[in-house]
Amino acid sequence: MAHVLIFKNATLIDGIGSTAQKDALVIVENERITYAGMYDETLIQQAREAEIVDLHGMTLMPGMIDTHVHLCMAGEASTFTAMVMDTPAFAAIKGVERAKRSLAAGFTTLRTMGEKGHIDIAIKKAVEEGIIVGPRIFASGKALTITGGHGDMFPPGVNVDGIGVVLDGVDEARRAAREQLKLGADNIKMMATGGGMSPGPGTVAQLTIDEMKAAVEEAVKFEKVTAAHAIGVDGIHNALNAGVRTIEHGTFLDEAGIELFLEKKAYLVPTLAAFKTIKYGRAGGVPEHHIKKVEYYQTAHEANLQKAIAAGVKIVAGTDAGTPFNYHGENAYELECLVRNGLSEMDAIKSATQLAAEALQLSDLGVIAAGKIADLVVVDGNPLHDIRLLQEKRRIKQVYKGGQLVHNSPVTG
Ligand SMILES: [Zn+2]
Repeated sequence: MAHVLIFKNATLIDGIGSTAQKDALVIVENERITYAGMYDETLIQQAREAEIVDLHGMTLMPGMIDTHVHLCMAGEASTFTAMVMDTPAFAAIKGVERAKRSLAAGFTTLRTMGEKGHIDIAIKKAVEEGIIVGPRIFASGKALTITGGHGDMFPPGVNVDGIGVVLDGVDEARRAAREQLKLGADNIKMMATGGGMSPGPGTVAQLTIDEMKAAVEEAVKFEKVTAAHAIGVDGIHNALNAGVRTIEHGTFLDEAGIELFLEKKAYLVPTLAAFKTIKYGRAGGVPEHHIKKVEYYQTAHEANLQKAIAAGVKIVAGTDAGTPFNYHGENAYELECLVRNGLSEMDAIKSATQLAAEALQLSDLGVIAAGKIADLVVVDGNPLHDIRLLQEKRRIKQVYKGGQLVHNSPVTG
């Protein structure tokens, strides 16, 4: 018999509409939503032996999606020790606990963006097989990078199972993408430029257009998604021209880049939470070369993002959780940052729900509507009035994944 779950007296943010709906009713049968809309007494009477949850006006919203996390890192000032000393097995165990923190914070889906030892794919399988409780993992396995590129920071002789797979040339790019797909990747992550955490300039282009094109071709063949880490403007253009679907960071985005975004219908993941590196880093022991670079990025990042928002580029929430002081479970901070840069509260929520699901081609997730999977969050308060509510643990009352209660603080009337 179907397990029926009824939410009544909900303030519904469905991920579709432009306003919240008061006194809404949502009905879930097993893992899917069968009804979301106006209160209807007859629907409640028809559903015999249903479990009824009276929300007393609390908000019901879609489970959120963080499109950029690293489970093998925990927000340490320098990740080198964890990168060298944690075996993939130990990193996987730590990664499970980190993923659970995001789930309890209302994030029911995480896209991992480069993990040592392919731990994300193992965690994904353990969640799917019901061995552990965790968020849905949309995995990249290892990120594709060039020799000496972002993610290839260890000198010869130091044999580390790092977050990157090193390649040079089109054929190697194709093979590296195929390897990730073979292991079960949902997404191919590419390093289009240098970055903050690796030595060397962060803005220079790294993977070539042709290398990225080859990886994109392989991913698209299997209907998988692609993403590119891109700080400098040349790398942003290269990635967009190669057909990459989501651009991460996008710091030195220019007018031509904004045009390309619109033309290619690509998504920008500005990872504003990653600037916690500056906020806490100098006192917290982040290496000076890293802070200097990120400070330089910040001079351009928000101004260019605001231009992109004004031009109508699709903005998707992703935190880069795991980078310095950017902790798993604090994912909703990104929404506050997006609001500060010009998104409305509703658009910030959509960037972490409907639009994030669209970017990842997850057509069953991200909205509360009949037929969709019941990934739901009960929030005490209305985040449309103050987006920062979503960061308060005590306000994330319940989290459902596929209709199953996976996090619960007692719902009070
Ligand atoms: Zn990242």
